[in-house]
Amino acid sequence: TQPPYKEPVPESYYIKPDATTPPARKANAVFVLLARNSDLNGVVSSMKQMEDRFNKKFQYPYVFLNDDEFDEGFKKRVSKLTDAKVEFGRIPREHWVQPDWIDETKATAAREEMSKNGVIYGGSVPYRNMCRFNSGFFYKHELLKPYKYYWRIEPDVKFFCDLDYDPFLIMQDQNKVYGFTVSLYEYEATIPTLWEAVKNFTRENPGLLSPDNAMSFLSDDGGETYNRCHFWSNFEIGDLDLWRGEAYNKFFDFLDSKGGFYYERWGDAPVHSIGAALFAKKDQIHFFNDIGYRHEPFQHCPQGESHTRGKCWCDESQNFDYEWYSCLKRYDALFS
Ligand code: GDP
Ligand code: MN
Repeated sequence: TQPPYKEPVPESYYIKPDATTPPARKANAVFVLLARNSDLNGVVSSMKQMEDRFNKKFQYPYVFLNDDEFDEGFKKRVSKLTDAKVEFGRIPREHWVQPDWIDETKATAAREEMSKNGVIYGGSVPYRNMCRFNSGFFYKHELLKPYKYYWRIEPDVKFFCDLDYDPFLIMQDQNKVYGFTVSLYEYEATIPTLWEAVKNFTRENPGLLSPDNAMSFLSDDGGETYNRCHFWSNFEIGDLDLWRGEAYNKFFDFLDSKGGFYYERWGDAPVHSIGAALFAKKDQIHFFNDIGYRHEPFQHCPQGESHTRGKCWCDESQNFDYEWYSCLKRYDALFS
């Protein structure tokens, strides 16, 4: 059998190109952007594309999050780009900073070793705070409480194609909980003990694993070792309830207690991916084939019919899907 995304989206999901008001049926959904004030130019670039390609037709609200206070200039420039509701939130300090119980001597030594070895962001504490926040805290933010679905956007990304159907409704109607466009291998140096922690967790909590999960996306030997495949989390369309649920929360707390966000450099991409792959059914994880997307240095460019229909401006021959470093073939294999 084929992976579900090979089935084209039913015609009934497409809006009329001349529609002047947002569709009557919408999901309870929001865009989430984590950013610093200094990210403003990249933020407006991403957001303008999202508005033009999709959201001026659908009018979903935005939530901006920052560990610092957003300045007035930031709020003003961003708010002008959309007619939809825009909210700005400050992240509580205890959701962001390195916890007191982390052994700072050990953490410093790890950062020095990693930056000496040229690991990207290996010497950065703020980057680690960001990864831990995205892994275990963003969905706990007050401003996200009213919502069920979210679409994560980052500064300086590209959206290549017109999207004339609502991906949140696809999530809702098809009972999907996690959507991605790019998947790839994680750097070993950032997660040396992550899989050991995952195995300890699953051994202690076998009942939390989903039946029909996507373990074979993560592991080629039935869970013994991690193949380092993960969904690239700079793009995510997800169900917040997946992260809010008991299984993922216990999982995050367990990982957090190991200190690996600071003693190593565990990313939110592998942590979310492992969570989604183990606590959801494999067919609840969706590849958004029609969404043309680039975050440096990789892009998903829709092929064939999908490229034509979306009037995509990416070069079809530049497409990460089946490059050697992509994990999409492992995703496809879940359904074969
Ligand atoms: P990369 O994609 O892994 O290279 O990392 P980015 O620099 O793009 O950071 C990922 C996301 O977190 C982006 O949305 C950034 O704007 C945001 N981000 C990174 N560091 C910080 C930080 O210290 N504070 C805030 N508020 N946002 C951050
Ligand atoms: Mn980024």
